[in-house]
Amino acid sequence: MVGMSLSSRKKRVMAAVMADGVDALLVTHLPDVRYLCGFTGSSGVLVLLAGKAVLFTDGRYTTQAEAEVKGARVEISQRSALVMACEWLEAAGVQRCGFDSAYTTVAALEGMRRAVSAKMRRGIFVALGSIVAGLRQVKDADEIATMREAAGLGCLLFEGIFDVMEAGTTEVEVALALEHRARMAGAEGMSFETIVASGARSALPHGKASGAKLPRRGFVTLDFGVMWGGYCSDMTRTVHMGPAEQEEQDVYHSVLEAQMAAIAAVKPGVTAGAVDEAARSVLRRDGLGENFSHSTGHGVGLEIHEGPRLAAKQAQVLKAGMVITIEPGAYLPGRFGVRIEDMVLVTKTGCEVLTPATKAWIQL
Ligand code: ZN
Ligand code: ZN
Repeated sequence: MVGMSLSSRKKRVMAAVMADGVDALLVTHLPDVRYLCGFTGSSGVLVLLAGKAVLFTDGRYTTQAEAEVKGARVEISQRSALVMACEWLEAAGVQRCGFDSAYTTVAALEGMRRAVSAKMRRGIFVALGSIVAGLRQVKDADEIATMREAAGLGCLLFEGIFDVMEAGTTEVEVALALEHRARMAGAEGMSFETIVASGARSALPHGKASGAKLPRRGFVTLDFGVMWGGYCSDMTRTVHMGPAEQEEQDVYHSVLEAQMAAIAAVKPGVTAGAVDEAARSVLRRDGLGENFSHSTGHGVGLEIHEGPRLAAKQAQVLKAGMVITIEPGAYLPGRFGVRIEDMVLVTKTGCEVLTPATKAWIQL
């Protein structure tokens, strides 16, 4: 991570914050803290003022904060980092400080108010929307480079997993093999609980790996991601064990066509809803509209689920630099399901698929 992108991130955040009429921002959501100063600890509060940034954390993180934090002063506090940050804000003469209402509990807000004097209590803290998370939707060059690596590792793991996929192997064993190989390759962990859903369980859109055995004949859906340099990857492939029914192949190819249609629709200026509709209309045409029971995709980055949300009628406009997933599926309850998911980067002219592992029919 280079210091230059951190300072431009802070500048963009402060410009947005000051446009909302406040002169400081209290950042408590940890992915936002990491985004703005590099700190990866599990407890920390960042205060941003024009031209100034201070990270408050506790004694467990003295050494780590020194090593990681760039462009912010570090204050080690004996008490709650949040209380220290609020006391500091008042002492610094801040009159109005924004906070992210989506990530501040009622209890935290009460603690923030108790930390300042009675005369400041009423007006100092101003509830704002998720300014940092909003800016995080558009990735900078450093982030794109890291996410490209994360997505590339996901592809390698998928392409290497067939050796453990035999009838009788449990879903958990397949998930563990993926996870073991991910860690051995340098991943910090998985970005969410690995989904391995086989046979009739493939009809569960979120069938996390269970003790069920892979069938002799039937689909297996693998939906997984790694954490790499703090960033999440996310991809899904559905493969078939043994010979398939015609209907299974038809559904697979409808989902694949829907997924490719949505990818073809991705470019700056189109709405998230239009991308969703591109996938949905293909499945509707094939009589599978009712079987596609979730949204088409989501933003991904430091967190596995970020904005934008790609769902029906979403008016948000895509911008170059966003990284989103495209993951339509079709689920026939009690029988089988298919989902195919790629991570794509919105480019100036269209998009680039970051997970180019094959989507051709695979029969094991
Ligand atoms: Zn996924
Ligand atoms: Zn996803």
